[in-house]
Amino acid sequence: MISVRGLKKSFGQQEVLKDINLEIARGEVVALIGPSGSGKSTLLRCLNLLAAPNHGVIKIGSECFDFDQTVPAKVSDRAMAQFRAQTGMVFQHFNLFPHMTVVQNVMEGPVTVLRRPRAHARAQAMKLLAQVGLAEKAEMYPEKLSGGQKQRVAIARALAMDPEVMLFDEATSALDPELVGEVLNVIKQLAERGMTMILVTHEIAFAREVADKVIFMRDGVVVEAGPPAQVIDAPTQAATRAFLSRVH
Ligand code: ATP
Ligand code: MG
Repeated sequence: MISVRGLKKSFGQQEVLKDINLEIARGEVVALIGPSGSGKSTLLRCLNLLAAPNHGVIKIGSECFDFDQTVPAKVSDRAMAQFRAQTGMVFQHFNLFPHMTVVQNVMEGPVTVLRRPRAHARAQAMKLLAQVGLAEKAEMYPEKLSGGQKQRVAIARALAMDPEVMLFDEATSALDPELVGEVLNVIKQLAERGMTMILVTHEIAFAREVADKVIFMRDGVVVEAGPPAQVIDAPTQAATRAFLSRVH
């Protein structure tokens, strides 16, 4: 489903991703962990081209970009949009449209980008809101919702675009502790439905429970990758052990 080969990304002189290689199968759930500044967000942003890679090949589903051959600035808007449509991204801050109701927030992409008829988009949005447990909030404005509810709307909004892969960048980090569980539950349900996902998370216990594979990054390098029972419970690398002993 996702293949990354030789991915490199620099900001000025600083190389933030140094030769990243990944293979993620359809339906696989991957937890991406590592210290602050290790390049986790940059890697997710490269996967949906919010950040332009300098080198490497990224394949997602049927789409492929070879940045050794392609100058990112020359990629057409259409090719970029087509590539991006394969991933749905959920950020730490939900960025809902404040002037739209919950259901309008979820319908907006399908109506304006996918040109779906409004009635169809609304019906689909209501299904997704039911799936994240928020059908009864459909006509409310985001300001009336709790952080956990806003984040569940953000997840429904990303799902409304029918992505092949969901990318979560610390989706629970901005939430009060008592609201974290409801968002993790929605993510868990998506995993059970077979959604391919990459989760950047500090929730190590959750990563152990839900992830098929854990990737530990440090300084722009994948230090260790494998099933949770290996990377979290029996890490082979000193850097992984040091990180886990700090966050556990
Ligand atoms: P955190 O856990 O704090 O979110 P992270 O692993 O997500 O960290 P990134 O945000 O990917 O780390 O940042 C990796 C490095 O790249 C950092 O040194 C950061 O300062 C740098 N960086 C990220 N985005 C930019 C940017 N737009 N311009 C310049 N440097 C950047
Ligand atoms: Mg980050």
